Amino acid sequence: MNRLAKLRQSLADLGLDALFIAHPENRRYLSNFRGSTGWLIISQKSALLAVDFRYVEQAQQEATEFEVVHIKGEPAKWLPELAVNLGARKIGFESNYLPFATYQKLRTVLRNCGIKLTPTDNVVESLRAIKDKEEIDSITAAAALADAAFEHARSIIRPNITEKEVAWEVEKFLRNQGSETVPFDIIVASGPNSALPHARASEKRIRENEPIVIDLGARINGYCSDLTRTIVLGSEDGVFARIYDIVLGAQLTAIATITAGMTGNEADNLARTIIEQAGYGEKFGHGLGHGVGLNPHELPRLSPDSPDVLQDNMVFTIEPGIYIPGWGGIRIEDTVVMQGGKARPLSRSAKIANTTSGGLLTR
Ligand code: ZN
Ligand code: ZN
Repeated sequence: MNRLAKLRQSLADLGLDALFIAHPENRRYLSNFRGSTGWLIISQKSALLAVDFRYVEQAQQEATEFEVVHIKGEPAKWLPELAVNLGARKIGFESNYLPFATYQKLRTVLRNCGIKLTPTDNVVESLRAIKDKEEIDSITAAAALADAAFEHARSIIRPNITEKEVAWEVEKFLRNQGSETVPFDIIVASGPNSALPHARASEKRIRENEPIVIDLGARINGYCSDLTRTIVLGSEDGVFARIYDIVLGAQLTAIATITAGMTGNEADNLARTIIEQAGYGEKFGHGLGHGVGLNPHELPRLSPDSPDVLQDNMVFTIEPGIYIPGWGGIRIEDTVVMQGGKARPLSRSAKIANTTSGGLLTR
């Protein structure tokens, strides 16, 4: 079944006559239109792509399954007429995405035409969670490029270089090697900065014997990858060695034991139990992972409160971490794909912490 057919099945299940889509990646996923502005209105019989004059030609070329409608102004000006023409009485909208002001205006003008606007939650995102072969190929290529970028980071990193300098070198490398944009700000966090799971690269100079967390991703054909490694220049101290082993043990256990049919909560628990038993449960303050696709963070979620069921052809990260305020943090993250009921890593970067030659610590 193609993507539109699957979406129409969802519409029928939800009792909706049509779905109004404003989210950029949902729009691209269903229509193949890559422009930055446009809306989809999809019913059982029609698939409309509404764009302004800047995008009419591009929309016609890219969104071959859609009828392109040339619109002017905000949705409240044109959606009622299109909806009436479709004969729709109940239209779903993306409650996680549509701005409240837009919703309020639309609700009023549609009600005047006898049409009800109904909130929906993750209708397209749920379809996007299961990847087809072409999508997995793109993410595999993006994961390989992230691996190469990490190798580049490892080759240039030295005492006294700033976090920002490393991040910029990595970003240039990614773009030069074919990444379309970087899917998120590259994290290079050293020493105490690495205790912040979402630290930004700062002017801090990197020193020996402190943890350095590098979190980066590439984007190919619109699809992202996500990779984290933690390294140390010079020699690791006893704290580093102990925590690295716990995080790596949790990560490898999760990769080896996650199986299709588990919930995101159950998967998260595989790694969390190991970290808790080592006495660091409260220092692992985020979920085990997240889906990766057109967005760097999407469904499924692997976290203590996630009911998402893991299935074949889902792509997600496995990224346990331990963060100790004042000292630093260690996180190890791979992008994996579920195949044959098991998690297969797409990330290949070695999980070796120490970067000094001759002192490689293989675990
Ligand atoms: Zn990451
Ligand atoms: Zn991640």
